[in-house]
Amino acid sequence: MVDTSKHLTVAERVERLLETGDPLPIVAAGDPVLRRVAEPYDGQLDDALLARFVTALRETMLAAPGVGLAAPQVGIGLRIAVVEDLARGPREALEAKGRVPLPFRVLVNPSYEPEGDTRVPFFEGCLSVPGWQAVVARHARVRLRARDEHGRAIDEVFTDWPARIVQHETDHLDGTLYLDVAHARSLSTNEAVARHWSRPTPEEAARELGFELP
Ligand code: ZN
Repeated sequence: MVDTSKHLTVAERVERLLETGDPLPIVAAGDPVLRRVAEPYDGQLDDALLARFVTALRETMLAAPGVGLAAPQVGIGLRIAVVEDLARGPREALEAKGRVPLPFRVLVNPSYEPEGDTRVPFFEGCLSVPGWQAVVARHARVRLRARDEHGRAIDEVFTDWPARIVQHETDHLDGTLYLDVAHARSLSTNEAVARHWSRPTPEEAARELGFELP
């Protein structure tokens, strides 16, 4: 089958994608779009189309369910991501992870830099790597610069679990998957995590699976 979508502009590809309806199909690891550095957003979509695209990204994230989704995960190589975490679940696990509610945000052209040297290890997963989780030692605190969907500047410090989410999503826009920065020996199926590694922190997993925590 000839892929004619390569000849379309990104706006035409987004239009075509939105015709598939919510939730959008999520691209899985192995698709090259997840490995390319996404193009900076510079008005390629008009305001109405950007608004529709962002709504579809949010619906797709919530339906998955997930706490973040980057445009390349629906096959669009633009530097746009959405994040939102209602932080529901057992209180012990939420507190151990510093998982506090992260209100819905649109991140356009985000970049982050760590503040301080502290890294915190936890299991995390990705909608583009379904069924698996691995431990990633993420910066505990990052300064995120971006624009929102209206072009307003975002310059904000994120900590704990929200910091993890914005790092994970921004990394997607650079063609990086969490597996690239995870402890490879921690790789576990969702079932294995539920069965063996349901403790809030990964010390026991590190001991039993044989990887070093920071
Ligand atoms: Zn992901």
